[in-house]
Amino acid sequence: MNSILSDRVLNMEESATLAMAKKARELKSQGIDIISLSLGEPDFKTPQHIQDAAKAAIDEGKYFSYSPVAGYQDLREAIAKKLREENEITAAKAENIVVSTGAKHSIANVFMCLINEGDEVVIFSPYWVSYAEIIKLAGGVPILIEGTLENNFKATAAQLEAAVTPKTKAVIYSSPCNPTGSVFSKEELEAIAEVVKKHPSMMVIADEIYELINFVGRNYSIASFPGMFERTITVNGFSKGYAMTGWRVGYICAPLEIAKACEKIQGQFTSGGTGIAQRAALAGISGDQAPSKAMAEAYLRRRNLVLGLIQDIPGIKTHVPEGAFYFFPDVSAFFGKSAHGYDVKTADDLCLYLLAIANVSLVTGEAFGAPSCIRLSYAASDEELVEAMKRIKKALGELA
Ligand code: PMP
Ligand code: GLU
Repeated sequence: MNSILSDRVLNMEESATLAMAKKARELKSQGIDIISLSLGEPDFKTPQHIQDAAKAAIDEGKYFSYSPVAGYQDLREAIAKKLREENEITAAKAENIVVSTGAKHSIANVFMCLINEGDEVVIFSPYWVSYAEIIKLAGGVPILIEGTLENNFKATAAQLEAAVTPKTKAVIYSSPCNPTGSVFSKEELEAIAEVVKKHPSMMVIADEIYELINFVGRNYSIASFPGMFERTITVNGFSKGYAMTGWRVGYICAPLEIAKACEKIQGQFTSGGTGIAQRAALAGISGDQAPSKAMAEAYLRRRNLVLGLIQDIPGIKTHVPEGAFYFFPDVSAFFGKSAHGYDVKTADDLCLYLLAIANVSLVTGEAFGAPSCIRLSYAASDEELVEAMKRIKKALGELA
């Protein structure tokens, strides 16, 4: 029998990150001691002054009604000011900002606004799971350009140039990158900007949601480069740098025509984001940045801790992530091996094996465009990380 469901949803993959998190939660609720390193989400609490701002907003009683579709004006102004002063996107004004229900929603708005049936979007791969599915949902065709472990998983501007066709509408990357933690240097971004400038009908979508978790210095925004403001949609949000995943606040900074289009789409789909969450976000962006810096320092310490432990496992190959909170090791040396009744042929198989035998949840690299790899989130306590790595080492050692 034909399904009642649309082809649109039938052709869509479930989010692998959220699916693995669900599986880990289910096993935990059965009393199994799962260490969850699958979901990319800070293990810190939202900083106190942000929580206080939300409580004060409730007490004020002014933010219970529909919010303006593109976000409260003072929040849009604060975001534009931050982008001008910290990211050197000097042209950014409040009118260029659209606040949405998380950066995932921002990205969905952008692709819905840009893509016609059959348009191509080049994705720097490995890439965050949702890009390709959102592009397909919008009728677009994802075109992957692939980085390798040897070059820190960074595909190059030359690869981008080679992938551009008359149908190319946009290119998207994240830096710092989910899943690899790699950070584009200024020179690498300048080279990408040169390619974009050569092709007037192509936009670049710069996902900078991990900008505050960067271990190699400052984050460069491609929108700040000469001639690039009108060619860039900068995506950012509060989930990672301010430990606010559940509050659901993200934003774009885009040329006016695209910002207006995103506001129009949002006005028909979801309306403005939650008022209280936006007041909290305003406190985050305009208040004390020390808690965000302290969290970034903790991630760096944990990166170094896990790096030592991974390098101690025979067969795993890793690069050194420069930001975000993920390792993305190559585990292909274990393919073709077996233990405990499990035959490990793929990264999917290895994740299921490690979940069952080591009780550690990770995400397969297949979901991120890299079938030789797995993703490990180190946004967890030192104790959990040490224990998880001990279990992983033992379980991998038993594969033969
Ligand atoms: N971009 C990247 C690269 C991500 O890892 C995520 C996951 N949180 C998002 C966007 C979406 O973030 P959110 O919707 O929580 O703001
Ligand atoms: N972005 C995070 C991750 O990659 C959160 C889950 C999701 O939205 O995909 O794990």
